[in-house]
Amino acid sequence: MGDEGGLVTSGEGSRGFTPRAALAGLRAYDVESAPCALELADNTSPFGAPPAALRAMAAGVGDRLARYPTTYSRELRDAIAAYVGVSGDEVMVGCGSDELLGCAFRALGTPGDRVAYMDPTFVMARVFAQTNSLLPVAVPLTAAHDADADALLAAATLLTYVCTPNNPTGGEIARPTLDRILAEAPGVVLVDEAYAEFAGANHAAAAPAHERMLAFRTFSKAFGLAGARVGYVVGARALIAELEKVRGPFTVTALSESAALAAVTTDLPWVERCVREVREVRGRFADALRDEGFAPLPSAANFVLIPVDDAVAWGAALRARDIRVRHFESLPGIGDALRITIGTWDDMQRVLMAMAATRDARPAVSHA
Ligand SMILES: *Cc1c(COP(=O)(O)O)cnc(C)c1O
Repeated sequence: MGDEGGLVTSGEGSRGFTPRAALAGLRAYDVESAPCALELADNTSPFGAPPAALRAMAAGVGDRLARYPTTYSRELRDAIAAYVGVSGDEVMVGCGSDELLGCAFRALGTPGDRVAYMDPTFVMARVFAQTNSLLPVAVPLTAAHDADADALLAAATLLTYVCTPNNPTGGEIARPTLDRILAEAPGVVLVDEAYAEFAGANHAAAAPAHERMLAFRTFSKAFGLAGARVGYVVGARALIAELEKVRGPFTVTALSESAALAAVTTDLPWVERCVREVREVRGRFADALRDEGFAPLPSAANFVLIPVDDAVAWGAALRARDIRVRHFESLPGIGDALRITIGTWDDMQRVLMAMAATRDARPAVSHA
C-alpha cells in the first residue's frame, strides 16, 4: 500500500488509483465474528427463523432459484402494506433496511448537502452520509437521552435521520419531540424503526400522509430473518418512486422474498409471541441488573445499554466466558457502555452470572 498523497498502489506495474476524499477515514464495517456460544451483539432473534418462512424458503430452493425474483416484489409489498396499514405503492423492499437507507441518502441528497442525525445512534447514518458525499452533522441527545428537537431543527438540514427506539440507547423518541421534528424539519425526515415491534410502535403508518417522512423497517430483528436480508421503507408514493430509481431491480432474492412473505402473513402470531417473550425477559433482566448495582438505560427495544467504566475490558471479560456483547467506547453523554441483546431468560441468567463474576474478579473494573 502506498502512503503518499492518497495514492494507493497495489504492487509492481500497478498504476494505482486515488480514493475519493469522502471515503477518507472510513473503514469497512467490521465486527468480530469468530463463533461464540452466546451471541448477544447484533440484536437478532434468539428464537431462530419463523416456521412458515423456513418452509417457504426450502420450497423456493426447488422452484424459484433458476429464475429472477419479481422486479419490484409486488406481492410482498402488498403483504407488508397490509401489516403496516398503508398501500402497496407506499412500500419499497430492499436487501435489508441498510440498502434502503443507502438509497434514501443517494436519492435525496446532493453531494455537499448536510445530514443531521441524533448522536449516538445507528453507526450507518454517518457512514451512508459520508459514502454519498454528504456532510454528517451529529446532534447530541438531550440529558434525558431523547432526540434534541431544537438542535436538530437548528441544523436546518435537508435530510434528518432519527431512530426510535434508538440503537444503541434503546429509548423511544418522546412523541412531542418526534412530532415537532416531523412538523418543522425543512426537508425529509428518515425515521429508522428497526425495533418498532418491541416498542409496540408503528410510525410507518403515518409516513405516506406526511409526504416528507420515510420510515425504515426490517425483517432482521423481530421477524428473525437477518440472514435473508429483507427490509422495507414506507412513505409517500413520490418519495418511494425516487428511491426505486436508485435501488434498481432484483436486490431481494427470490428465496428471501418467499420467506418474508410467509413471515408477514402466516407467521405473524409466532412473531408476536416472540416479541412478548423478549419484552418480558427484557424487564426481568433490567430489574436483575439494577439489583446488582448496574444502571441500564430504559429500553423499548430488544437490547439494553449498560454504562460501564471500561467497555473494552468488560467486552473481553464476557467474551472469555463465551458471551459476545457489543461494546461502545465514549458514547456522547453516556461514556463507555455495553449493548446486550435480549435472548431467552436462560441466556440472560448466564449473562448476569458472568457480569457478577467479572465485577468480582476485576475490582478495578466496576460499573460506572
Ligand atoms: C439492525 C438495524 C438496521 C439494519 O437492518 P437490516 O435490515 O438488517 O439492514 C437498521 N437500523 C437499525 C437502527 C438497526 O439496528
